[in-house]
Amino acid sequence: MDRIKRAGSPIHAFFPTGIEGFDALAELALDMRWSWNHAADEIWNQLDPDLWDLTHNPWVVLQTVSREQLQRTLDDPVFRRKVDDLAAARRHEAEAPAWFQQQYPLDALTSVAYFSMEFMLSEALPIYSGGLGNVAGDQLKAASDLGVPVIGVGLLYQQGYFRQVIDMHGEQQALFPYNDPGQLPVMPVREPNGEWLRLEIMFPGYPLWLRAWQVQVGRVTLYLLDTNDAANFPAYRGVAGELYGGGPEQRLRQEIVLGMGGWRLLEALGIKPDVCQLNEGHAAFAVLERARIFMEETGQPFETALAVTRAGNLFTTHTPVADGFDHFNPRIIEHYLGDYARNHLGIPLRDLLALGRLDPDDPAEDFNMAYLAIRGSGAINGVSRLHGKVSRRIFQSLFPRWPEVEVPVGHVTNGVHMPSWDSAEADGLWTEFCGKERWLGITEHLEEKIRSVPEDKLWQLRADNRKSLVDFVRRRLSRQLAASGATAGEIGNARHIFDANALTLGFARRFTTYKRPNLLLHDPERLLRILTVAERPVQLIVAGKAHPEDEAGKAMIQEWMHFIRRPEAGGHVVFLSDYDMLLTESLVQGVDVWINSPRRPWEACGTSGMKVLSNGGLNLSELDGWWAEAYTPEAGWALGDGREHDSDPAWDAAEAEALYTILEQEVIPEFYCRDSRGIPTAWMARIRESMARLTAYFSSNRTVRQYTEQYYIPAAAAFRERAADRGAPAVELVNGLRDVTRKWKNLRFGEVAVTTDESEHLFEVQVYLNGLSPDDVRVELYAERTVDGDPVRLEMTCGPKLVGAENGYVYFARASAARTAADYTARVIPHLAGSMIPLEAAHILWQR
Ligand SMILES: *Cc1c(COP(=O)(O)O)cnc(C)c1O
Repeated sequence: MDRIKRAGSPIHAFFPTGIEGFDALAELALDMRWSWNHAADEIWNQLDPDLWDLTHNPWVVLQTVSREQLQRTLDDPVFRRKVDDLAAARRHEAEAPAWFQQQYPLDALTSVAYFSMEFMLSEALPIYSGGLGNVAGDQLKAASDLGVPVIGVGLLYQQGYFRQVIDMHGEQQALFPYNDPGQLPVMPVREPNGEWLRLEIMFPGYPLWLRAWQVQVGRVTLYLLDTNDAANFPAYRGVAGELYGGGPEQRLRQEIVLGMGGWRLLEALGIKPDVCQLNEGHAAFAVLERARIFMEETGQPFETALAVTRAGNLFTTHTPVADGFDHFNPRIIEHYLGDYARNHLGIPLRDLLALGRLDPDDPAEDFNMAYLAIRGSGAINGVSRLHGKVSRRIFQSLFPRWPEVEVPVGHVTNGVHMPSWDSAEADGLWTEFCGKERWLGITEHLEEKIRSVPEDKLWQLRADNRKSLVDFVRRRLSRQLAASGATAGEIGNARHIFDANALTLGFARRFTTYKRPNLLLHDPERLLRILTVAERPVQLIVAGKAHPEDEAGKAMIQEWMHFIRRPEAGGHVVFLSDYDMLLTESLVQGVDVWINSPRRPWEACGTSGMKVLSNGGLNLSELDGWWAEAYTPEAGWALGDGREHDSDPAWDAAEAEALYTILEQEVIPEFYCRDSRGIPTAWMARIRESMARLTAYFSSNRTVRQYTEQYYIPAAAAFRERAADRGAPAVELVNGLRDVTRKWKNLRFGEVAVTTDESEHLFEVQVYLNGLSPDDVRVELYAERTVDGDPVRLEMTCGPKLVGAENGYVYFARASAARTAADYTARVIPHLAGSMIPLEAAHILWQR
């Protein structure tokens, strides 16, 4: 690590101002902690109020402001003192022991490399598209709060995801602004001699040069790679040009850069993480490069190196449908990776392809990145309880004949970084009741404290937040209309639209079919009636982008625009263009109810609804993703019956009706039913339950602690155990697994006898192990789960050797007679010390 300068030190090279006090300012501007900690906002505002208001990007302010203004402001001793104090506080905080340091010995975890195609940290660094980046960004921030040693790895795109404009016809236009690295809060990663660190990856015909950048996110560093190096072959120079742009070949190149380039970068920096987390299958090539480097260090063959490093890899899947994973034609895999497989991994192409295939012998099968991630990881998790279950179903085929519940996929439900999404007023209230440090350690005690907030304070918070949102809508909509060529009258109306006292609903998300962004429009007349009751007005804010090539998505935006332009809708609905983090912030802080209506189970988790929790917003959502585990009737409203209906139009219609009915009969009456003080008491009770029960749990604080305790620390230990002695334990394991695989087909069951008394069955099962020893296997009695219970798995005891058999034994077990003997069946599975079954050997033999 010390070979490379840390953020902060290379600034002089970038920016020789010679102005005293400048360094401290630059240090603050380059730490994206400002995206959630607003202590320094005042100094940026003082330097350039207009630019600060427009961009909220300290780095842009600092680079734009004139030398004279800088000098003048820094000459003010009060300002100067404030800057120095903030910089000192920042350094102090970065070094003080946090939750992780207090809770665990330092050597429990050296570091976790977190690989992701996108990171959503701030609009100042637009390298995200949506939910996946949100999860990555919020987890880095929480890792910083908690002191968990995470290092992010991603790509720096010349173009982030597209920006949206709605034109005069209500159609979406896509714009692709250029990410000027000079204006982004990133610094080049330099060698000690000042040279920009560059890495080389061999691409067909030409080397691809990668440049590296670093971003400071509190205590956490995020490294980003880009390919825009003048030395690159023109066709390769734009590889990291655009997030999710281009066809499959471009995607493959990006994934090679992320996975292989990313791991190589860590190596070049001297960083040796124990744990590598793959945020979605995009980054799975990291698995190969990590193994290759282990081969280089120890001289072990690929299979052993993979067995060692696998133990330290965690694959986090976010996809709820089997065909949602990236997969590539074997020919382009050969084109890009054939030489790498043969000459660097020392394996034939076929073996590499097999890692990404269900059936290694099917030459027509594509190479699936999720399969590679699974073959290369020691643990796999989905991102909500329901998504864990859905993922076990999706990956069942990799574990043939294993019961679905035993497919080795767990779950850690996503959470959001509360300090990034709460309003200043909500932050004030939470600070008063739960303390300033509430998100820096354990949070289990917060429920009680926030529950004690008095009604009038809570209602005042809601009123303040809603008012800010209404002001925001007026400003934003009038500008949006002016830009799209609206009349002066329309623009003037927009400046007075909405009512700060009216029930405010929000619906913002990607416009894609499964999210059903037009479910509310199913019966436009009924929606109109709901919105326009004079004594109980309702206002609705809609936002969202459709992928530029998604015609159905774009049509749904237009459908909303047509509805909004109907005179009867007059002022009750707006569509705000260019859904991004800044828009999200305003929406989630101000809305009373956040609506989400995806088709179950396609919202793997969903996070936008969590962002309203700390602000006192309520959720009305489909029982899918996180809401399927968060919902209780006291804290919000649920759509759906908790089952899957695919894309059945009749079901969509029924859910739309249900949505209207909930609004008409529950949401609106409860909001407008006030006591003598003007407070809606039932509504307040609901907010209290939502805030108290859900906020702490659905925060990325809980998510990151759970990853640390359930995955990172055990994975680090498992990896180190296997890596010891140049991987000797893994050599033994690989030999053992090979042996079991070779001999497995000879295993068979013999006679089975059962005797039953009042309470128990005694099972005696003959098993012919042939070449295997009883130490290599585990014989179990298994009974499928009943409606109200888990499956039964009982280990059977190895008894006497069968007479005359070379390697046959009787196995015994007693099982409760509460279930009939026929419910139980015996099975054999591999059992090798330190191995992960069925992940590393999915053999299973059933007695019947
Ligand atoms: C939170 C957020 C998302 C994720 O939202 P879901 O609808 O829950 O998937 C996507 N985009 C932006 C801009 C967000 O702020």
